[in-house]
Amino acid sequence: MNITIIGTGFVGVVSAAVYASFGNNVIGLDIDPKKINSLKLGKVPFFEPKLEDLLIQQQNSKNLTFTTSYEKAIADAQIVIIAVGTPSLPSGAVDLTYIKQACEDLAPHLKENTIVVIKSTVPPGIFKEIKPIIASKTKVNFYLAALPEFLKEGTAVDDTLNPDRIVIGAIEETVINQLTKLHQPFNAPIVTVKPESAQMIKYTANAYLATRITFINQIADLCEHNGADINDVIEGIGYDKRIGHHYWYPGLGYGGSCFPKDVNELASYAKKVKEDKNLVITIGKLNEQRIPKLLNKYSSLIGGWKNKTIGILGISFKPNTNDTREAPALKIIPELLNKGSIVNAFDPKAIWSPSNNSNYTQAKTAKEAINKADCIMVLVEWPEFINYKFPKVEKPTLFIDTRNLFEAEKLSSLGYTYQGIGR
Ligand code: NAD
Repeated sequence: MNITIIGTGFVGVVSAAVYASFGNNVIGLDIDPKKINSLKLGKVPFFEPKLEDLLIQQQNSKNLTFTTSYEKAIADAQIVIIAVGTPSLPSGAVDLTYIKQACEDLAPHLKENTIVVIKSTVPPGIFKEIKPIIASKTKVNFYLAALPEFLKEGTAVDDTLNPDRIVIGAIEETVINQLTKLHQPFNAPIVTVKPESAQMIKYTANAYLATRITFINQIADLCEHNGADINDVIEGIGYDKRIGHHYWYPGLGYGGSCFPKDVNELASYAKKVKEDKNLVITIGKLNEQRIPKLLNKYSSLIGGWKNKTIGILGISFKPNTNDTREAPALKIIPELLNKGSIVNAFDPKAIWSPSNNSNYTQAKTAKEAINKADCIMVLVEWPEFINYKFPKVEKPTLFIDTRNLFEAEKLSSLGYTYQGIGR
């Protein structure tokens, strides 16, 4: 099939390479010429395991090309997949600017009966807004469908090649048939529903995962009052088949490019439809309060942040990505600098720096980041940190293990004062 993907960001590039790998003729389109030039040269402008190899392989086999021209990209497309960003507005509501712009720009080039698929995460009911935008700029018949994306950064290629399920939100039989045919090679359950259900499935999945993270943090906070260990609690509850051992991550709360914005967008939607007491509104608020609450606690453990040297391990929002969107480090480091700390941070892939602050250094190694630290904070479970041999220390050093990766006794024997989460 001839497929065009609009928006070659994280989701767009991965989808483009994977659809191409199933023998489709794929064009990736973006308005960012730097991104497109880099992709044309086989360079992925962010870190994602396995992606660059797949990209180069598909470009060499001529199944995958990139362009900035809407005219070139849309003219022969049978299916146009929109994967542009849908960030949150300051109010928490979704910002549909990029989606609407893409719809306006693709419309004049559509051929008869093209399917325009929204892969970006968007609230239910959005088709009522975008259908007139496209219709006002074309005379041909076109269809709309929803195809939410569930990949995880860090394992995006494997997730896309072997999805848990494909969700197709469409009404017309011809659309359902073509999208089902496109996804047959994925060998995954295909859930075919109304577009509104597909859009709710995406928000519900992320809101539920965010709720699990928030819930276990609430329990971890209670454990700290009574000597229980949250890891023991997780082990004990996990044998209940209704609960399971998977996906319990006590820590600093959820971050990343999706959960915070998707929960906020669903909360904003709940308020819009006057469901003012909906749980997702509370989940978002609890998550926002999480890091300030913990920083307050850690500050009292170390006697205030002023003039303390802090070694941060992990800047990305999770391991195996250099994505720093809504990463804990980006909330913690500015706060520590504001309070007068000297911060040295290291990450195996992510690069970040606050503007103009001589008290901040991005270290080249973990060793450099923790050198002479009064406090070490492990924020991300990169394998490099899990396997790191922390040195013996002579001066009092607080060791904050926000991922519960390390043994308290072992670190205490090396001279550290250990502080985990909920233990
Ligand atoms: P991104 O910011 O990495 O990429 C978006 C791309 O769209 C950018 O390259 C931008 O230049 C391009 N763009 C913007 N306006 C355009 C236009 N009018 N025409 C052509 N290109 C345009 O975003 P992302 O992380 O890939 O997310 C895309 C969507 O997928 C979002 O709705 C997001 O919520 C959803 N999603 C993301 C993930 C994830 O892990 N990143 C997972 C599931 C779903």
